[in-house]
Amino acid sequence: MTTLHHTAMPTAHGSEVLSEGRVRARRRRTAADLLEAAAVASVVAVAGLFLLDTGAQALSTGNAASRLIGWGRLTGLVGTALLLLQLLLAARLPIVDRTYGHDRALVAHRRLSRVALPLLLAHGAALILGYAALDHLSWATGWLVEAVRLLGGAEPDMLTAFIAMALLVLVAVTSVRAARRRTSHETWHLVHLAGYVAVGLSLPHQLSAGTDIAGHPLTQLVWTALYAATAGAVVVFRVLVPLIRSTRHRLVVESVIDEGPGIVSVVVRGHALHKMPVRAGQFLHWRFLTPGLWAAAHPWSISAAPDGRTLRLTVRHIGDHSRRLSHLQPGTRVVVEGPYGAFTTERRTRRRVLLVAAGIGITPVRAIAEELAGAPGTRDGDVTVVYRGADEHSMALRDELEHLATSAPVTLHLLTGPSVSGSWLPTTTGHRPADAEALTTLVPRLSEHDVYVCGPPAWMQLVRRSLADAGVPRHQVHDERFGW
Ligand SMILES: Cc1cc2nc3c(=O)[nH]c(=O)nc-3n(C[C@H](O)[C@H](O)[C@H](O)COP(=O)(O)OP(=O)(O)OC[C@H]3O[C@@H](n4cnc5c(N)ncnc54)[C@H](O)[C@@H]3O)c2cc1C
Repeated sequence: MTTLHHTAMPTAHGSEVLSEGRVRARRRRTAADLLEAAAVASVVAVAGLFLLDTGAQALSTGNAASRLIGWGRLTGLVGTALLLLQLLLAARLPIVDRTYGHDRALVAHRRLSRVALPLLLAHGAALILGYAALDHLSWATGWLVEAVRLLGGAEPDMLTAFIAMALLVLVAVTSVRAARRRTSHETWHLVHLAGYVAVGLSLPHQLSAGTDIAGHPLTQLVWTALYAATAGAVVVFRVLVPLIRSTRHRLVVESVIDEGPGIVSVVVRGHALHKMPVRAGQFLHWRFLTPGLWAAAHPWSISAAPDGRTLRLTVRHIGDHSRRLSHLQPGTRVVVEGPYGAFTTERRTRRRVLLVAAGIGITPVRAIAEELAGAPGTRDGDVTVVYRGADEHSMALRDELEHLATSAPVTLHLLTGPSVSGSWLPTTTGHRPADAEALTTLVPRLSEHDVYVCGPPAWMQLVRRSLADAGVPRHQVHDERFGW
């Protein structure tokens, strides 16, 4: 274990809470409350309007057939509202990214699908069974007769509705963990884009055949507006903003630097980069316009604080795509989506900051350390970096961190050694309190720090557990996951 200290003098200001950090945290909480209230309100409004119209009656009175049809209508409306919310969560809306972070927005997107898809399947099943019962068809085969009747054009736009449902099921099946493991990211992504087609294909049958929408001009208008607003958000933030940004900044590769075995840094320069709203700790989706790389955009964090002229990413070779970056030629055009992510000093609420990284998770941490080291008002003892690796030679950007620790008020602890089961540190026995005790010894006044964590997912979980054991409040812990 190596520990490099730049004078870590305890200061009288150690327990200071940054007032602007508190204000930002309060604003974030308000934004989150508003967004969540808007999401719940939209779903409740959809269900409420249905119940206030003829829905409540359909669900509570009448025979089994009309009750089934009532449930089919309700699940369809609520399922569709949730589906649109899912799209908005993945639309890269700046307010969503700032409030939750891109990774958490995508987690919510995935969780919502576990409710939306079953509701939509229930919608299809309940309506088919309900109409079969209404036509006095048998339970055993009636559903098939009814499905064929609908597909044959008995109701308008049913073929596109069936295709939409099949695409949604395909997207869901290819997204389950076991399938993801067997599929390349590119294939999964291509199939996932079919989700947009599915949402588009589902609209016509709602407008022409939906009992609660067809024939109600005002509802039709509102429903179409909801779809249009969602499509607009996707087009603006996933297509137009990246295109405008890439055109404006005219990004090209400036140099490719070998950082040691299996790791390269790519320095990208651009026009008026000081106007790009990018911060240390954020990531972009990078697309290099050269054979073999142009077809896919990959998320990589910037590994140096932006200087207004260049951006740097540092990449570990994992698969074919990252490996090919070593062969990039200076002058290669680059298109970016982003910047994204809330793993920045915007989240900081305390004067003291602890940055904890392992493996290639050092990239955003290195950028944040540089930003903090150069920030006016940073004092000795304010910034501590704990960097975990197997051995010093395999630790990317180690030299730069050591330089920061000797030239700026940054305390660096390089922790090397083999993994210990159940521990994220090399020196403890792996018993639960041991990590927290070791960390508290390493970083005095631990609970007075904001802690930024980035590394392999299982390792991050152990770090978070130690921080909780050591009494660091949850809202002071910020992390970035290198995988969704
Ligand atoms: C927010 C974020 C920041 C990241 N920052 C860095 C960084 O600074 N340095 C670094 O070396 N790595 C970083 N990564 C990881 C990096 O994106 C993947 O290692 C890289 O995309 C692998 O691509 P590949 O084709 O070479 O490998 P593959 O073997 O194809 O994939 C390896 C893993 O990366 C995932 N992956 C592949 N393509 C994508 C994609 N387009 N989008 C999302 N995940 C993908 C795969 O699902 C798989 O789990 C980051 C990831 C995320 C999500």
